[in-house]
Amino acid sequence: MSHPTPPQNKTAADPAAPDVVKPSNFLRQIIESDLEKGTYASRHWGGSPGDAAHHAAGPLDPAKIRTRFPPEPNGYLHVGHAKSICLNFGLARDYGGVCHLRFDDTNPEKEDTEYVDSIIDSVKWLGFDWSQPGNTLPYQASDYFDFMYRAAEYLIEADYAYVDEQTPDEMRANRGDFGKPGMDSPYRNRTPAENLERFRQMAQGLHEDGAMVLRAKIDMASPNINMRDPAIYRIKHAEHHNTGNKWCIYPMYTFAHPIEDALEQITHSICTLEFEDQRPFYDWLMDRLSETVTLSDGRVIGGLLAQPAPHQYEFARLNLTYVITSKRKLAALVNENKVNGWDDPRMPTIVGLRRRGYTPAALQAFAERIGVTKSDSWIDYSTLEGCLREDLELKAHRGFAVLNPVKLVLTNWDELMGAGHLEPCTQPALPHPPDGVEAHTRHFTIGKEVWIEREDFCEVPPKGFKRLFPGNKVRLKGGYVIECTGCTKDADGKITEVLATVVPDTKSGTPGSDSVKVKAAITWVGVNDGVNAEVRLYDRLFLDAQPDAGGKDYLEILNPNSLKVITAIVEPSLANAAAGQNFQFERHGYFVADRVDHVQGSKPVFNLAVGLRDSWGK
Ligand code: ATP
Ligand code: MG
Repeated sequence: MSHPTPPQNKTAADPAAPDVVKPSNFLRQIIESDLEKGTYASRHWGGSPGDAAHHAAGPLDPAKIRTRFPPEPNGYLHVGHAKSICLNFGLARDYGGVCHLRFDDTNPEKEDTEYVDSIIDSVKWLGFDWSQPGNTLPYQASDYFDFMYRAAEYLIEADYAYVDEQTPDEMRANRGDFGKPGMDSPYRNRTPAENLERFRQMAQGLHEDGAMVLRAKIDMASPNINMRDPAIYRIKHAEHHNTGNKWCIYPMYTFAHPIEDALEQITHSICTLEFEDQRPFYDWLMDRLSETVTLSDGRVIGGLLAQPAPHQYEFARLNLTYVITSKRKLAALVNENKVNGWDDPRMPTIVGLRRRGYTPAALQAFAERIGVTKSDSWIDYSTLEGCLREDLELKAHRGFAVLNPVKLVLTNWDELMGAGHLEPCTQPALPHPPDGVEAHTRHFTIGKEVWIEREDFCEVPPKGFKRLFPGNKVRLKGGYVIECTGCTKDADGKITEVLATVVPDTKSGTPGSDSVKVKAAITWVGVNDGVNAEVRLYDRLFLDAQPDAGGKDYLEILNPNSLKVITAIVEPSLANAAAGQNFQFERHGYFVADRVDHVQGSKPVFNLAVGLRDSWGK
């Protein structure tokens, strides 16, 4: 294996120490073999995307490989995109390369700058940076429209493309199918001059949408339907967010994407499996646009793109149980108010996951763990949750929160400690702070009354119950050992207060405090300094593990209990959390101070990120 050289991208956060050995996969093997053979070693880099001449004028490319993440800015990124981001940026980082962020904005109608901004934020938040010497802005495919037009005219002149005026229905009928070859269009044998004239008319806006298209001239009998003269340019009288009204013809994705890769000197163009059948056209186009052709009048044209050309590789997209990863379907959830926006913590969007309490490290670990393969499969949602738990276990500050409170009254407090006395208590924020991390201490007080979980008291305990019941002793964690004496009830028999006495000289951390043995320690919050907090308990958004498989109507199988809002009582350190801060509510799970609605000190709002254990379905 060739030794990785320092990365060219500036990486905002580099979680992978260079000496960490990553599990190999087919993409790593391909890249390592290319590096060994020097497949791309002779490439030049013109300092920015461009044609063959532009790159030839530049120095040898300092980047050993170039990958790209090419989202279409027509929605928010989701967990599937996170996999692709971690993969592409991760490979570039590990092999001394560069990964480009490129907006694939060749479709004028569906795109929006709101999505552009959010995609930029999401990639940065995940810990990646596309900037390289001389380039700090992401690339946009629409900047290449001029070149694409030139490439189209070249194909026409070289007799590799023609304008087809068949109706869409005729074109479909003449395309044939898997068992039947297609039929040549009656317009297929027009001369290059005739085609050029019509194509220029298309560009000048002289024809209606759909009146004609430009098609590559390949082979109507090819067993691969994608090679049966695919359309490469269509008429669309629409304004584009970058190029305004300059164009009324737009390139098709199959034509645009390989060109974008080539102009950017991408070496390994990694996409999902559904593009496998497009690869022959990708290669055909790369060959046509890099070779030269001698016309009958002796003119030599072509050589538009630098060689060696990029190569496309396909991997299996992420399918995650209980999750939908289609921008269109996620948009429907938002537009039909099934969730509260793109960043609803139940959404698998990156903004939703972030609001839910997911961390960049957890998503990177997830991408690493699921790996890349060439066959589709479903990843269990618990794998994602496990990655978050592992990250937060080490990092998240602990805190006490009582989710279902009942008051506990210490009946001998005033007599023992003095009326109104509040005793300061402490607990470590991290039980095992990692090396180099300062061990914070949480401060709170105990007085005559504290809140405990209702389920921690039982008047008549079932066998094995170790918490509060009359006559039993437990420790209030970080406080005192107490002995339960009973409870009070209202007229309906509902328990209103649990009663106990403090056992003297048992305060945690004082000498001899553990002389009284107890079988349980329970969490609690002082009535004096506890703060009411809104806690949002989230569950799976769908009832079905594969919500959109097999034509199911995913909008009909929403989990009616995917959100439950309660009022909890939290210790002061939690009320003072910064928005977006992660915590472990001891014994309950991992929570995050909501990035949007939590206001430090005055209105605490927490989201359940993940429970302490994988309890789904158990
Ligand atoms: P969607 O169907 O959600 O709109 P898309 O593939 O059309 O997804 P793009 O913006 O075109 O969305 O995707 C950008 C990149 O992310 C592509 O390279 C695509 O292959 C990759 N990608 C999208 N969805 C997934 C997924 N579920 N798993 C892995 N990669 C994905
Ligand atoms: Mg797409």
